[in-house]
Amino acid sequence: MIVHNAGGIWGHTGAEALAIKAGKICDVGFADALRDKWQAETELDAQGLLITPGFVDAHTHPAFATGRAEEFDWRAEGADYLEIAKRGGGILSSVAHVRDASLDHMIAICTLNFKRMLKHGTTTCEAKSGYGLSLESELKSLEAIKVGGERAGITVVPTFLGAHMIPSEHRDNPQVYVDLLCDEMLPAVKEQGIAKIADIFIEDGAFDIVQARQYCQAAVDLGFELRVHADQFNNLGGVELACEFGAQSVDHLEALSDAGLECLAMSDHTFAGLLPTVPHFLRQKVDAPARKMIKAGVKYFIGTDFNPGSSYTPSLIEAAHFARVRLCLSAQEAIHGVTAGAADSLGLGESKGRIKVGHDADLLLLNLPDFFHFGYAFGENPVVKVILGDKI
Ligand SMILES: [Zn+2]
Repeated sequence: MIVHNAGGIWGHTGAEALAIKAGKICDVGFADALRDKWQAETELDAQGLLITPGFVDAHTHPAFATGRAEEFDWRAEGADYLEIAKRGGGILSSVAHVRDASLDHMIAICTLNFKRMLKHGTTTCEAKSGYGLSLESELKSLEAIKVGGERAGITVVPTFLGAHMIPSEHRDNPQVYVDLLCDEMLPAVKEQGIAKIADIFIEDGAFDIVQARQYCQAAVDLGFELRVHADQFNNLGGVELACEFGAQSVDHLEALSDAGLECLAMSDHTFAGLLPTVPHFLRQKVDAPARKMIKAGVKYFIGTDFNPGSSYTPSLIEAAHFARVRLCLSAQEAIHGVTAGAADSLGLGESKGRIKVGHDADLLLLNLPDFFHFGYAFGENPVVKVILGDKI
């Protein structure tokens, strides 16, 4: 297939056409030259729209059983994170619903959530479990993520987040749950074979740094890659730990210290996950120091953190807008954050996130006048068409 008459192709100044063969990008240039060379049977007129890589969302939580809209009202009445948890909301309310839900229900919800993402241009998505917090419910969530991704037709990277929170039955003795995670749950997830990445939430009220070290060591020993939630509200040393273990990414970072920033800048492996819709959704004033990080050479991506409690958006366009407004990123930096940066952070930089010969033809046609308009408007979806291989 040849796609011609593009208003611009990301990463290829002056080019207006590209060729796709067997699901891969095989050429970029001018339409006539591509027609002569590739003899394509089908052509798609891009009608002057911009072409970008399909978006890569490297931080999402789609495996919940129901939304938490009632908490949004409680927050409007002034309840904070802790107060909401006390009133029966928060992560543990999602846990109760996921434990009660059937696999079929979980698959239906995951499929729906992935379709919502795809509609907004996300063609690859990292998807965490973490609302089950028991072996059975976590394996069910990972199965739902896998099947949901297949049904929605997007590429999914499943992540085990059994270390999202201490479940209520272990509140009085959290160490029992940490040992359970390390000795039983991680090995069982490894055996199930769906998730190759393990994640942990290092925060007051979730896991402390000693527990996190035990979990990360157990995960690495079993051959998992790591991703880490850290420095969201409090700095517990999670960034330093993530860098020490060579985690793929450490995400949130609103409470990042100078020492943590230095660790990230020195790391040639660990990406900073910027999730700018979260402080907005939680009415926090403090944002991650993204400009300082970029200036220091920290590798980064922008994610939605799509979840029912602290960032209920499936749209990376929206996340890019907040990255531009609250984190002061340029349009170019925002596009990088939702494409190549995110793909690289997941170890998918050789197939996703770039318009490059040999890469998967996951492409978007965007209704924007030029790339400077990326993340400028909000509340609008500029995605006109999604191309996945040979399918439009
Ligand atoms: Zn998260």
